[in-house]
Amino acid sequence: MHSITRKLFLYNVVLLAGCSSVKTVEAKTPAGTVSLSYVARLYSMKTSMFGKNMVLQNKYNKLEVETNSRRAWINGVMVWLHEPCRKHGTQWTIREVDFKKGIDPILRSYAYAPKAMPRLVVIDPGHGGKDSGASGPNKVREKEVVLDISHRVRKHLESKNIQVKMTRSGDTYPTLDQRSAYTYKVGGDLFLSIHADGAASPQARGVETFITSASGYDSSNYYGQAGDKSSQRNNEHDAANAILGFSIQSNLVKASKRDDRGLRRARFSVIKKAPCPAALVECGFLTNPTEESLLNSASYRESVARGIANGVLGYFTLVKRARK
Ligand SMILES: [Zn+2]
Repeated sequence: MHSITRKLFLYNVVLLAGCSSVKTVEAKTPAGTVSLSYVARLYSMKTSMFGKNMVLQNKYNKLEVETNSRRAWINGVMVWLHEPCRKHGTQWTIREVDFKKGIDPILRSYAYAPKAMPRLVVIDPGHGGKDSGASGPNKVREKEVVLDISHRVRKHLESKNIQVKMTRSGDTYPTLDQRSAYTYKVGGDLFLSIHADGAASPQARGVETFITSASGYDSSNYYGQAGDKSSQRNNEHDAANAILGFSIQSNLVKASKRDDRGLRRARFSVIKKAPCPAALVECGFLTNPTEESLLNSASYRESVARGIANGVLGYFTLVKRARK
């Protein structure tokens, strides 16, 4: 699969030589946007409408964008755009930032992956100590669930000779700033915060992965201080965040078999302040009775941990291949 993707990459490198020509190629779309027909041409994809969705597809990849919506799917995995896909004249367009800092890094990781191999992964089990996090109808507590999942992820990664450190290994509560400071101090090359969700509605369910919003853009929804569009330290890793987040979300959905809530954007403190590529994973809803009982079971925790670890390993593989 990757030798095929590589061929596509080499082909696209020619097409993309000077991506700054985006606006000149598509003069009809407003500044800061690209049309989906331009994206389709770039990847040699055919376009078709399927209900409300614009589908772009070639032999290797499928990009599906819901019109007038922020939802898109890359090879079947949901990815939230910073701004909705909108029609300008006859053209469906997305923000240039969503193409350059989301879709393109995911589809052509070779061109965007960091040059250095990560050495140290920092795992951050959410909450702890005085902060129990979310809890469900049967009082299963987030801080305990995510600590166990984190230890399991650590074991999987260490079994592949990847060095791992944790911001907490017991029932303690490092502050959010202490978690970021720790990652900086130990020289973390990859940061992974692990959580379980809570919502007012017991119907809410599924798994999701967050990365920092691009500078100038809001979160995917109410999460992470809505209205905050500031530039953050972690924004220098925008492309790597997308590669990492997509790899984790794809593997997490597959391993957990839960609903795909997508790769989303938010300025959660621990990811926006991370000095390295970073993602925050939500492993299911404790407020959903079915998912609470899953999150309370060793077998589900192990599946989720395997999914997250496979996502990290997938990211390592993409970085390694980009170096060749
Ligand atoms: Zn949490």
